[in-house]
Amino acid sequence: MCCKFENNFYKILFLCSFMRYSILAETYERLEATPKKLEKADVLAELYTKCKKEELALVVRLSQGYLGFDLGIARQMIKEVVKKAYGVSDSEVMHKFKETGDLGSVAEYFDKHRKQRSLAHKELSAEHVYETLRKLPSLSGGGSVERKIFSVAELLSNASPLEARYIVRTVLGELRMGVAAGIIRDAIAKAFSQDVKELERTFDFLGDYGKVAEQAASGKLKAEIEVGRPVRVMLADRSPGLREALEAFENPALELKYDGFRMAIHKEGNEIWLYSRRNENVTKQFPEIVELARKHLNARECIVEGEVLAVDADRKPLPFQRLSRRIQRKHDIEKMAKEIPVQMNFFDIIYLNGKNLMHEKLRTRWELLKKMVREVKGKFQLAEHLETKNLREAEKFYRYSLNQRQEGLIVKNLEAVYQPGKRVGYWLKVKPILEPLDLVVVGAEWGEGKRARWLGSLHLACKGNKEHGKFLETGKMGSGLSEEQMEVLTKKLRPLILEEHGKNVKLKPLVVVEIGYEEIQRSPKYPTGFALRFPRLLRIRDPEDKGPEDVNTLGDVERFFKIQKRASGKGKVQKAK
Ligand code: AMP
Repeated sequence: MCCKFENNFYKILFLCSFMRYSILAETYERLEATPKKLEKADVLAELYTKCKKEELALVVRLSQGYLGFDLGIARQMIKEVVKKAYGVSDSEVMHKFKETGDLGSVAEYFDKHRKQRSLAHKELSAEHVYETLRKLPSLSGGGSVERKIFSVAELLSNASPLEARYIVRTVLGELRMGVAAGIIRDAIAKAFSQDVKELERTFDFLGDYGKVAEQAASGKLKAEIEVGRPVRVMLADRSPGLREALEAFENPALELKYDGFRMAIHKEGNEIWLYSRRNENVTKQFPEIVELARKHLNARECIVEGEVLAVDADRKPLPFQRLSRRIQRKHDIEKMAKEIPVQMNFFDIIYLNGKNLMHEKLRTRWELLKKMVREVKGKFQLAEHLETKNLREAEKFYRYSLNQRQEGLIVKNLEAVYQPGKRVGYWLKVKPILEPLDLVVVGAEWGEGKRARWLGSLHLACKGNKEHGKFLETGKMGSGLSEEQMEVLTKKLRPLILEEHGKNVKLKPLVVVEIGYEEIQRSPKYPTGFALRFPRLLRIRDPEDKGPEDVNTLGDVERFFKIQKRASGKGKVQKAK
């Protein structure tokens, strides 16, 4: 293995005039050591001022830990990389990983303790590390996993222990330095004496702090749209209810809040680019949308936005999970496009034939969009849109959206401009707070003291997916039951006891309960991988109404988890009002 790397050595662009990667690694270590944001910005500013013009953007991206695209390397693959680079076994890697919980530190450890270092070993440049990582997603087809492993292992074989730590973390997208976008922005401002607000505005148009830094260094910030280059998208705020959202605007437009994936389509002649909400280029994954956009967007140049849904053969929306398979897929794309067809629902236009439309009112943009999109029903169409201030009509539309298995409504101000990258209250999302779950009781615990004669602490399970068998535990309701409820439950549950171990009883899964909760959290404690926060008993279901066959599935729990994450943008759901 080492020889192979040595043969390749001369192909690798080392040191030369580019910044050494070790300078970045040392900077990362300093950043990790300080919790202070101001200090972090100072440390980064110092790094940026050391960069040459041609390497500034890549150094900024590397220091951000997100290169602007998914590298397509799973954690498991990194374990293989470490094994290959240092000639260690699976169990050695696992052992160290259990100790540190960080594959970066695992690589650093083996690097430090490696038996031999190649004589041809020379220092890595930041540019070489960046270029190697940049090429990873384009390695596809047969043997691509091995080639990816080889590429990263090759980097590690030439890395110092500290460099190895950060190369691995960069590949995993977890630099762990506490450097958010705001710190990068402040560092650029400091390094090149620029105004923070101006930098932010430029970022909204460029969508990449690497490019922003280049412009900042040249002294000319240009907040301009360019077809083919992603723009940061406008965001929605949450409204407490439909009535409040309608009252917020003099002239509201209501649209279905589709449960899909936001996509911007850029068109310049025959050239099409598709970007995700996070500005990842997803053009390759959706060839049928590229084709439709070429034929059915009636403009020489434009940037339009909408939500993509996965649909079944009857063009009925499917759960988001199906769509995410399309997004992640990098090969056999045509086959996948047939298996999981999609539907584009347009809701905005921000650029048309050389004109930036962001300063136009939504009313005008929507009219232009209607003229621009030649609809192909079920495939390539305008979002369902209703202009009303009437609560009854709005409620009907809201229910219609939920019946269509969509998330609710977005209520938009028809008089508002488009604000890239911002939540400024021009769009309000209205969606239900989390629905309760119907779960089956699969176990319980005898109480203590006064409560010893009652079964409490219910072990709750949802229906597993096919591969998991029947029921899967997803939480425990430890407290909050009244004595009366415990009395009723004990009566129902006692005849169902299958096994007793101390206080714990295992039950035949027959009793179904409706459970309200504050939040669904990820949890390794339960086989579903999810737990309920503050579960509370809403009612014991009548078996005629709901039996164990009717309880919610693991798929439902995952879906609710996702909805809640999106509702808050951070993973915490707003409290029920
Ligand atoms: P959230 O992700 O919950 O903040 O909601 C905003 C997201 O809803 C947007 O980024 C879009 O991906 C999605 N969305 C679905 N339907 C629409 C629509 N009609 N207008 C705007 N955004 C929509």
